[in-house]
Amino acid sequence: MGQRGRIPYERYFETSVVPEPGVPLHSYAYLRRLTFEMVETSPVWDAHAHLGRDRDGRSLELDDLLRDLDEYHVDGTVVFAFDDPDQGADFQVPNERIWAAYEKAPDRLIPFMRLNPNGRWEPEYRRCLDRGHRGIKLHPRAQDFSLGSPAAREVFGRAAADGLPVLVHTGYGTGAVSTELAAIAQELPDLRLILGHSTFIDMPRAVAVLAAYPNIYFETSVVRAYDLFEVLDTISPLRVLYGSDLPYASSANSLHELAVMADIVGVEAAHFADLFGGNLLRLLGRG
Ligand SMILES: [Zn+2]
Repeated sequence: MGQRGRIPYERYFETSVVPEPGVPLHSYAYLRRLTFEMVETSPVWDAHAHLGRDRDGRSLELDDLLRDLDEYHVDGTVVFAFDDPDQGADFQVPNERIWAAYEKAPDRLIPFMRLNPNGRWEPEYRRCLDRGHRGIKLHPRAQDFSLGSPAAREVFGRAAADGLPVLVHTGYGTGAVSTELAAIAQELPDLRLILGHSTFIDMPRAVAVLAAYPNIYFETSVVRAYDLFEVLDTISPLRVLYGSDLPYASSANSLHELAVMADIVGVEAAHFADLFGGNLLRLLGRG
């Protein structure tokens, strides 16, 4: 472990290290080496990917998602809706599309429902739960609610009671949410709360405030190097989940960055399999 909160100076160059000539930086061959061949022998699962389309103009179709996963031998991913222009009041249309994709690739996808706590979310929650969605995605900025609001607390309470993990966007647009997240984790010790983007927007405070809660997991998509260092240096490797946020990042970049940073922090090789999929599968009762 380095000095808390800082990438050790003598290892900083490794954040931009390149392989020998002839081995491309973001190649699977290089990734194998960065992960001590773990990607060859253990399941790799992504905790954060979108399918469909977003109000911001982004979109991702199932075939393109699977192509990206295949290129880096990623076994599968959690998928949920974007901030879809067809979301209506309750996300029924995009949740339906996620389910349709899941039915086409049931071995590769773990479907989460997206909900809007503003308004009547329960019928859609019930519908998705009964059908088999395995978790919930919430986005406080896009759906304009605060994590501590009574409506959001109700969603968290139901998820805890029904054993569904909740992935909450804790990136751009969310501010200092660590205190609210700690209160939720404290109040609902059975809730498995996944922090999408690892609360990087509230670093370094987030890891200090949230490290104490064993039911909080840190998902690594689009987290900058110095914040990822902070997470891996402070949080148990059994509570960190590999994520890409496809299509906003690629599997190549996301896998590469987590592998490089885990090595710099000094995460034991034996824990790489946990970071890159083992933790997620166990959390979902599949490990
Ligand atoms: Zn996302």
